[in-house]
Amino acid sequence: MNTALKNASPLMPVEEAISQLLAMAELRRLQDSESIPLSAARQRVLANDLLATLDLPPWPNSAMDGYALNVEGWDGRPLPVSQQVFAGQAPAALAAGTCARIFTGAPVPKGANAVQMQENTRVLEDGRIQFMQLPAAGSNIRPQGQENRAGDVLLKAGKRLGPFELAVAAAQGCTHVQVVRRPRVALLSTGNELLEPGTPLKPGSIYNSNRTLLNHWLEALGCEVIDAGILPDELKQTRLRLEQLQHGADLILTTGGVSAGDADCLGQVLRECGKPLLWKLSIKPGKPLTVGQFGEVPVIGLPGNPTSALVTFGLLARAYLLRIQGVESVEPLSFPVPVDFAWPKPGSRREYLRVRLENGRAVLYPNQSSGVLLGASWADGLVEVLEGRTLKEGDSVQFIPFSELF
Ligand code: AMP
Ligand code: MG
Repeated sequence: MNTALKNASPLMPVEEAISQLLAMAELRRLQDSESIPLSAARQRVLANDLLATLDLPPWPNSAMDGYALNVEGWDGRPLPVSQQVFAGQAPAALAAGTCARIFTGAPVPKGANAVQMQENTRVLEDGRIQFMQLPAAGSNIRPQGQENRAGDVLLKAGKRLGPFELAVAAAQGCTHVQVVRRPRVALLSTGNELLEPGTPLKPGSIYNSNRTLLNHWLEALGCEVIDAGILPDELKQTRLRLEQLQHGADLILTTGGVSAGDADCLGQVLRECGKPLLWKLSIKPGKPLTVGQFGEVPVIGLPGNPTSALVTFGLLARAYLLRIQGVESVEPLSFPVPVDFAWPKPGSRREYLRVRLENGRAVLYPNQSSGVLLGASWADGLVEVLEGRTLKEGDSVQFIPFSELF
């Protein structure tokens, strides 16, 4: 066993663990990509730069309902209306000495160089339009290519696709986007005590909540989940299951069994047969997080306590899974907030507390036990209390919204 991983060794700081995971991810970037319809592409990662094929807007169009005219050499006298242009029409060139009735989004006729909004005009009895104000050249016209030019890089490879990005692709007329293939993640829960919902509860048992938590979260990160079920706390079966799972998965993600107890078989197997990379972090909750490799497949062993699994997945495993898909910015946005509580006892590990923001201040969920899942649902995010730090009410800490972790 790697001596650095012995029990007595100092705990690994969170940022070092993240950079080790990202270094590992760099070596395992997914190479294959696929073309999929926009309707199926949310949360996926763009494989190639998305280039504009069109100028946007494709032609100058009106930003207002009003009248298009040419202001060059015009003395402000009333103008007859030579045509009407609605959005979706292709107008004729503007006849000299006339204006065109025009509506928002309609192409501006060639020869017109301004639009006056209808509120600043009056229709005379003979049908001519009187302009109460003289518009400057260019007013109320959205020029061709104002947003982008054909050939511009609109989205860089590695961009995660959400509603905004997919709308940008749609505006170019794309039906499909080229995305990195989904990472295949084998999700394995360990623990003799675990039962799936839908089976009657037995004495000593609990229902498996981590599977549901991670199943949804993995999907939100663009992964394909291979449900590897529940593994009993038994060494031989643990080895066997990992052997089976190493084929066909890009990552084996497990929960439980990574502490130093007798029943913590997964950690033992990873440290003995696998290649351990990290074990024991300076983090609370989540200290036993174990990262290793079994055969050629990386294994991230999250601790079993639901909030430990949640925090370590959100801060570490998430970054790994995004980076193998080519996402550059994997660090969640965070910002400082004042706390509404005191934290008098300095901790030896970096602590992530479930808090809610109320009037701009972080309010603590009363029970911060790693076994309590409900706090995460109550909270808006995590605050980070650094090793050795104490807090007075009003002191500032870094807040990571949960929404940043999806
Ligand atoms: P472990 O990390 O295996 O020592 O588990 C720590 C605690 O988390 C124990 O109380 C387990 O019963 C609980 N636990 C482990 N896995 C799960 C799971 N999949 N769902 C809910 N609780 C779990
Ligand atoms: Mg266990």
